Amino acid sequence: MIFFIAILIFVICKAVIKYSGEAAPGARSGANEANAVVCAKRMDISGGERTSVHYYVTFEMEDASRLELPVKGFEYGRLAEGDRGVLRVAGGRFAGFVRNESRFSAADPDKAAHRCPACGAAYTGRVCDYCDTPWAEPAAK
Ligand SMILES: [Zn+2]
Repeated sequence: MIFFIAILIFVICKAVIKYSGEAAPGARSGANEANAVVCAKRMDISGGERTSVHYYVTFEMEDASRLELPVKGFEYGRLAEGDRGVLRVAGGRFAGFVRNESRFSAADPDKAAHRCPACGAAYTGRVCDYCDTPWAEPAAK
């Protein structure tokens, strides 16, 4: 009998966890976080005597669904198409986006010119154009 009650409690707990985990992003209470990619940005300028600009960012979720949310101007400026990270939605509104990987590193040898440690020539790529010395990974910070 005790075993049966234990199973019953376990099943109820599982159901509660499942239910709370599936709360809609538009739910009034609490915040939801999910992996997302910035897939589009747009500005909506409404004219008249006072021009007002509204900013919208579309996020693509892991399940390929898309969600367009209004954001503030400074947030709009911080987000770039292709950014991957964790989207936070609270009460159906945009509540933050934390990038979890940059699309390319500033130290990427294929993108940024760097100086050959052997001959001092500036070049891009993984092997010096002048003396064939391979590019060395900068020490991790
Ligand atoms: Zn060199």
